[in-house]
Amino acid sequence: MKVSKRAQEVPASATIAVTARAKELKAQGVDVVGFGAGEPDFDTPDYIKDAAIAALKSGQTKYTAAAGIIELRTAIANKLKKDNGLEYTPEQIIVNIGGKHSVYEAMQAVLDPGDEVILGTPYWVTYTETIKLAGATARIIKTDRSTDYKITLSQLRDAITDKTAMLLINSPSNPGGFTYTPDELKAIAKVLEGTKVMVISDEIYEKLIYGDTKFVSFASLSEDAYNRTLTLNGFSKTFSMTGWRLGYTAGPLEVIKAMGRLQSHMTSNPTTFGQYAAIAALGEPADEAIENMRKEFERRGKYMSERLNSIDGVVCPEPTGAFYCFPDVSSHYGRNINSAKINGSMDFAKALLEQANVAVVPGLPFGCDDNVRLSFACSLEQITKGLDRLEKWLSQ
Ligand code: PMP
Repeated sequence: MKVSKRAQEVPASATIAVTARAKELKAQGVDVVGFGAGEPDFDTPDYIKDAAIAALKSGQTKYTAAAGIIELRTAIANKLKKDNGLEYTPEQIIVNIGGKHSVYEAMQAVLDPGDEVILGTPYWVTYTETIKLAGATARIIKTDRSTDYKITLSQLRDAITDKTAMLLINSPSNPGGFTYTPDELKAIAKVLEGTKVMVISDEIYEKLIYGDTKFVSFASLSEDAYNRTLTLNGFSKTFSMTGWRLGYTAGPLEVIKAMGRLQSHMTSNPTTFGQYAAIAALGEPADEAIENMRKEFERRGKYMSERLNSIDGVVCPEPTGAFYCFPDVSSHYGRNINSAKINGSMDFAKALLEQANVAVVPGLPFGCDDNVRLSFACSLEQITKGLDRLEKWLSQ
């Protein structure tokens, strides 16, 4: 059977692989604590579901414009203005089949073979694969704990070459759980001035920020930043709508039009009644539902990082955004735990799952082998239970 070189070179998502193994164990009756999930453990709020049901019942079951219905693109334009201080016309906005599709399509619309895309470690696994699928090359900047895993300005300056077509920013970060401050982003925007580098600003976790963290959209920093930025966002994380597959991209008209042309052949429109639900999601009741979810995540993230830091040889910055802790566990590398040799994050995650039945995601596929990712999108009881097990397992 023939499989294209392109497809052969793309591995399955590492985050999905761990979740699948954890599910397998669960199906065998094993009591697994899962820290692998990349989705909120809350249900989609009822007012959103009701809007989808009403749309279905009123016959919204046919094709729409490939880029999404104008009412939704207008609602997104209003949201970007109100929340992010960004002025986009509905024509500058395309609704995609989830944020993942936004990333893929944006890369396809902008990149050519030979182009380079700068991104810092740790990065979301999908970025490097979608860069590759566009024929471009990832130029990876290695970060570490000393800068809270953020790239420095001198690293950025050094990485920019004639081939650099794009810089990827994901703040708040998956898997890092860190957030760039407005000043840090302003400084990055300054470095880009006078270059031809475009920016993808993946803002999917914008509403999940903690403590005194401030979120700012990269495109809102200056006219120069606005002109070079594609702002990506979606409904999955903010509204607990992962299964609905709704994301969007806003940016320069030429690029959005190019994405629209690609989308018209690849997928056509996002599910029609889902688009109506998305309009409802952006409406009034949202703020309270989001704030309740945010507060709960904040409590869990604080608890999880405190507990992790109290474990010998584990170092974890307190997350400022998203729903992930990304502890450095490398001081345990080189050890044998119950005759399993721990030589890196893959061994660590595998042995922890098999021996102590706790599912975490290895940091290697995110570009940081010193770390593992623990999602706190699960109950405080589960977090306590899982961390008790982790602590006991490491203390052997
Ligand atoms: N960007 C980041 C950084 C993410 O973590 C995710 C989800 N894991 C997405 C985009 C895409 O989410 P979705 O496709 O569900 O909209």
